[in-house]
Amino acid sequence: MDEAVIQTRLAEVIAFLPDATFVIDTEGKVVLWNRVVEDMTGVKAADMIGKGNYEYAIAFYGERRPILIDLVMLPDKLVERHYDKLLRRGKNFMSVETMLPKIGRYVFGTASLIYDSNGNVVGAIESVRDITDRQRAEQAVLEYQQHLEEMVAARTAEFDLANKELADRNKQMHELNAQMYLTAMTDPLTGLHNRRGMTEALNSEALRSNRSGRAFSLILADIDHFKDFNDHHGHECGDLVLRHVSNVFRGAVREVDQIARWGGEEFLLLVPETGVEGALGLAERLRRAVAESHMLWQREEVKVTVTVGVAEHVGSGNAERTISQADEALYRGKEEGRNRVVAWTNRRPG
Ligand code: GH3
Ligand code: MG
Ligand code: MG
Repeated sequence: MDEAVIQTRLAEVIAFLPDATFVIDTEGKVVLWNRVVEDMTGVKAADMIGKGNYEYAIAFYGERRPILIDLVMLPDKLVERHYDKLLRRGKNFMSVETMLPKIGRYVFGTASLIYDSNGNVVGAIESVRDITDRQRAEQAVLEYQQHLEEMVAARTAEFDLANKELADRNKQMHELNAQMYLTAMTDPLTGLHNRRGMTEALNSEALRSNRSGRAFSLILADIDHFKDFNDHHGHECGDLVLRHVSNVFRGAVREVDQIARWGGEEFLLLVPETGVEGALGLAERLRRAVAESHMLWQREEVKVTVTVGVAEHVGSGNAERTISQADEALYRGKEEGRNRVVAWTNRRPG
């Protein structure tokens, strides 16, 4: 086919392309300006054909400057800077996604060189596809994704907070439980174990002793003539005596020894891993510490003494029998005149 015929055919094809398309020659003058580019820019072909000096750029950008079609003819770093989504595909083919501010559309543009049959450049062609709707859809998807992410983040934060509150409440409950347990095991007047607290301690010590085969001892101390403090000075004085004796005991024992207010004015001490000899020594120390202590009631010294029974826990079984033996020894001490220490023995007093 003749070159002129080909060019005519090409012109016809371009005229009916579905994308806005135009062609410039090597001098930058517009050679073709199809129907779609007319519609897109609002500039008629009759007003554009033959115009150079970047007239077409005004139709798209509102200013006279090199655009994509010029870039394929003459690469220019300054011009490239206008486009942040510029792609060079092969030597003479470029594409870009950009906003056309004059028209208010987002477009995908492609441009390439045009050669004649001898391989000489005769011009360049650019097609511009309106992808505003696609862009909007993509933007909407992005925004929706972001919205979802924000929602998930918010929910996660809420969830974390709820979890934390739950953990806090759990912790509080544990603390409350521990507090309640402690209260249930403690004598409020002296702060010592109460009978229940001591029973727990005795049970676990008995288990430990049964396993290890090592004896422990019990010391039962009863305040002498305690009734007299109440009767002569009143209940408050009696309570003070109880606190006084408990403080003397607390100051005289080791960390591992446990003390309880076992009854009204009776104290039970658990002395782990100690036989009767060692326990007797401790019991005597306790007795003397009380007898030598000074307690004032309404500026007058009040003499306080205790009588003490000691028994060693040997063999298996729980501590009840040992407690009874300590009690028996204590009773003997009362009979023998009080303010003394007696160890339990098989022998009944004669
Ligand atoms: P003994 O030397 O034989 O042990 O004589 P006692 O007076 O200490 O013994 P008794 O068992 O006759 O009296 C104990 C008294 O302790 C009876 C009770 O009123 C009193 N008591 C018990 N618990 C408390 C208490 O918590 N506070 C006060 N103030 N008195 C108490
Ligand atoms: Mg007493
Ligand atoms: Mg008593």
